[in-house]
Amino acid sequence: MTGVATMRRPRSLSEAIDTLAASPGADLLAGGTDLVPALRTGARPVREMISLRRIVELRARGAAGDWLTIGACATYADLAGWSLAPGLAATARSVGSPQIRNTGTVGGALGTASPRGDLLTFLVAADAGVVVTGPVGQRQLGIGRFLADRHGPDELVTAVKLARPCGPQTYLKIGARQTASIPVASCALVVDRVRRLVRCAIGGVASRPVRALAAEDHVAETADWSTGALPPDAAHRFGELVAEAVTTAPDVAGDDVYAPAAYRSHAAGVLARRAAARCLAGARGADARRP
Ligand SMILES: Cc1cc2nc3c(=O)[nH]c(=O)nc-3n(C[C@H](O)[C@H](O)[C@H](O)COP(=O)(O)OP(=O)(O)OC[C@H]3O[C@@H](n4cnc5c(N)ncnc54)[C@H](O)[C@@H]3O)c2cc1C
Repeated sequence: MTGVATMRRPRSLSEAIDTLAASPGADLLAGGTDLVPALRTGARPVREMISLRRIVELRARGAAGDWLTIGACATYADLAGWSLAPGLAATARSVGSPQIRNTGTVGGALGTASPRGDLLTFLVAADAGVVVTGPVGQRQLGIGRFLADRHGPDELVTAVKLARPCGPQTYLKIGARQTASIPVASCALVVDRVRRLVRCAIGGVASRPVRALAAEDHVAETADWSTGALPPDAAHRFGELVAEAVTTAPDVAGDDVYAPAAYRSHAAGVLARRAAARCLAGARGADARRP
């Protein structure tokens, strides 16, 4: 790390907001798994830093009514065994090594907003809300809006909100390894048996996770919602439509050192069929079929 940064260590959220208001745009330090390497390599300039690590209230998670709330400083390890949020838990378990899961946070994942970030892909499929807080109070943004606009220099992410699951959810990724590895492609699938719909997001293939809307509609129309089953042919078509959504995404990644673009869209389709097989009875036959 070159240069010496001033480090503030507020003990409460209100103190953090006051500190940030006095130094808008200061670097927020949560787990440091993205920020510290970037400072060390000089990829980011050393600036004033505000550590969020002492703010216990930002680590809380809980359920109220139809909603789950996860504090920005909750770590992946905090979420990995959370039975109320099985898709989020599966996503957290797929991240990094134990050291990264013990340190990396939800707020840090949103702050970095890496197109390959595991959490981001799940949050898009879950249609999550992001709560940002600043001197004038709190506001909640849909995840899509947050990724487009981010937050102001005097605001920080304080929580993420998810609807309580109304059906199975899963998260799968393909990479050089299952964990501690940048995914070549990932797939989050959230089934809502009450509203009779699914949401599917593919990560690692474009600058933001891609929602496969035509594929989602196809499942909504072809699933038997009285049993939660999807016929094998419909599941196979679901995989094809997901692969098409990746190929036609506006800013799809080209061939790179991780994978050719064609492999990514193929992998997305395979992952989507596997995810359907996990979440929707009957779809298993399609996963066994090879394209
Ligand atoms: C070895 C290694 C393996 C990894 N493996 C994976 C992996 O498998 N999957 C994966 O998705 N990621 C992986 N990562 C990336 C990283 O762990 C995650 O992105 C993590 O969630 C970042 O969280 P953090 O708390 O460490 O963030 P920090 O490094 O503290 O901060 C990251 C950015 O977010 C900002 N920020 C922090 N908190 C907030 C907040 N509350 N509000 C607004 N902005 C904020 C910071 O200012 C900074 O810009 C890996 C990283 C390493 C070093």
